[in-house]
Amino acid sequence: MTLQGKTALITGSLTGIGRGIAEAMAQSGANIILNGINTQEEAENTRQELEQKMGCKILYYKADVGNVQEVSTMISDAQQKMGSLDILVNNAGIQHIESIESFPIEKWDAIIATNLSSAFYTIRAVLPFMKEKKWGRIINIASVHGLVASAYKSAYVAAKHGLVGLTKAAALDVASFGITVNAICPGYVDTPLVRQQIPEQAKARNMSEDEVIPQVLLAHHAIKEFVTVEQIAAMTIYLCSDACKTLTGTALSLDAGWSAQ
Ligand code: NAD
Repeated sequence: MTLQGKTALITGSLTGIGRGIAEAMAQSGANIILNGINTQEEAENTRQELEQKMGCKILYYKADVGNVQEVSTMISDAQQKMGSLDILVNNAGIQHIESIESFPIEKWDAIIATNLSSAFYTIRAVLPFMKEKKWGRIINIASVHGLVASAYKSAYVAAKHGLVGLTKAAALDVASFGITVNAICPGYVDTPLVRQQIPEQAKARNMSEDEVIPQVLLAHHAIKEFVTVEQIAAMTIYLCSDACKTLTGTALSLDAGWSAQ
């Protein structure tokens, strides 16, 4: 699969899954728009390193994806500089683990903004460019928590279920324009987001941090392994291929058998 001549925006792409997707897409020949909440200076090393390693054009935008104005400025500027915007991967996400009655309101608002409203803002902003070219691929990194729930994750589960719903609705809106919209629903992946959950999970469940990986994180994986960043990145590349021209509006489980139970 070649993405030569395509430009891909991946939100939250300085670390974890987003970084892996950016690298894989660059390796397939795409020009890349990185995004995150780090300053331009903080991101410059990563940007340069990827550009040198992959030999493609890479831009970085500091933009809070939960802020509609910052999203629209990033997308219009990046499209102008790159000349096109063909692939959008909504990946940025945050988490907070706490029981519902003490769950802080500001954490709820931040998770809904970052994990759900963000995708509405980015999709709205990229569609005019994709419609003009009659080609586009939109991939939302949801979660197995877009399909099933776990305790102490009310905001995250609500946002990810919403993201799966948005995926279906957007897919139908744009079906006649050569644009597909799909969600990927991973189980646990060993990234900074998950490492940060270990003390929170231990506190919420009154267990030791050592017990969290086998007893909580991998408890529902039928295959007792973490999903990897590389597996998710490979799925995003596949979704960009012609083989997936009619694959749209789906929520693809990549969850080691979790949601089969
Ligand atoms: P991560 O923390 O490594 O990556 C998230 C990235 O988003 C970070 O680089 C962060 O700086 C960025 N970000 C946070 N808030 C932002 C904002 N307001 N604007 C722009 N960027 C912002 O975590 P990850 O595990 O790589 O998660 C990536 C996505 O995958 C998330 O949407 C997450 O919900 C989803 N996911 C992760 C797992 C997992 O087990 N790690 C499982 C299923 C789904």
